[in-house]
Amino acid sequence: MDGVLGRERAAREAQRLQRQLRWLDDSRGTEVVWEGRRLVNFSSNDYLGLAQDSRLKRAAVEAANQWGAGSGAARLVCGTLPVHRELELTIANFKGTAAALAFGSGYAAAVGAICALVGSEDVIILDKLVHASLVDGARLSGAKIRVFRHNDVDDLRKILRWARQKRTDATRVLVVTESVFSMDGDCAPLQEIVELKDEFGAWLMLDEAHALGALGPGRRGLAEALAVATRIEVQMGTLGKAVGSTGGFIAGSAALIDHLVNSARSFIFSTAPGPAAVAAARTGLEVIASDEGEKLRAKLLNNVNALTADQKFTMPIPRQNGCCAAIIPIILGDEQRALAAAEKLKAGGFLVPAIRYPTVARGKARLRITLSAGHTLEQIQTLASALATI
Ligand code: PMP
Repeated sequence: MDGVLGRERAAREAQRLQRQLRWLDDSRGTEVVWEGRRLVNFSSNDYLGLAQDSRLKRAAVEAANQWGAGSGAARLVCGTLPVHRELELTIANFKGTAAALAFGSGYAAAVGAICALVGSEDVIILDKLVHASLVDGARLSGAKIRVFRHNDVDDLRKILRWARQKRTDATRVLVVTESVFSMDGDCAPLQEIVELKDEFGAWLMLDEAHALGALGPGRRGLAEALAVATRIEVQMGTLGKAVGSTGGFIAGSAALIDHLVNSARSFIFSTAPGPAAVAAARTGLEVIASDEGEKLRAKLLNNVNALTADQKFTMPIPRQNGCCAAIIPIILGDEQRALAAAEKLKAGGFLVPAIRYPTVARGKARLRITLSAGHTLEQIQTLASALATI
């Protein structure tokens, strides 16, 4: 086996696609220590800096003390602890839905929900650039997969037309997209997509992983920002990014959540998320929902503007649909070029990841800068100066 895997590794190395785990010595929000060197961290999705918040840490410790380090079993086997129930009530309340279901991760939520909703008789239509978790869910579901060009509603319309022709009364059609795309930082044309899926009687699943906490007057995401949340059947999110903990969720109608409890295999056959993470997530959501959440979001927005407005920073940044997300890609194309740029930034004291195939298409390698409310203006300005030299 090792010989076969070794040849695969050599092929990856030849294409500059080999990945290595980076061993951090320390991590304190916007600063990490790597190989003895202190770096400003521009690689985390902890958009509001809540992962290091003392209230979240305290909630985690108290929950572990009260309920234990682990949950013991899957919830349908062992029962639901009050922490899980409270988290789900908090999510549903925050998202304004009738119900919500927590999963161990956003990945598990995506795969579990998609496979519970569509099967071999159905059609699933994905934006070309959706996250791997949604692609994997689609593949595993056995539904017929169709892909529309990224954010192209005309292409989506064509595919919906095709689906309508081959559809029987029993066929389900599920459209899947993200609000803020994880590697490009641009937003879906959500209003148009909602209109289209309604026109064709399809369902919509929206992954708000990178929008929750950052977009919308209540920081609920792009669906809230564009006032279409109540028209979206399946609202997905992760608790591992702006919320500052770990886990994932689906929010929606009571019928949807009941169906997932009975059919989402990544929920049914997986140990319930640990009490510490669950309690931290609930606290994180409470902070986001509060006035302080708005202050943190405003700080994040300030930081995004500080970097993108900086004269030294010349790369074009996608900002259509009133979208202002905290992900800023600098597309360099060649994998080696992206790696060299990341190395150069590291030498200058910044952790900015080089993103390569298969996370993005071949030849679309890039630096991916993520900003946080925790960054200082000075950190951002020095990054902008360093970027100007690559
Ligand atoms: N969706 C998107 C758009 C993501 O970027 C991610 C995480 N990279 C996920 C889903 C998966 O979420 P989690 O990390 O909670 O598994």
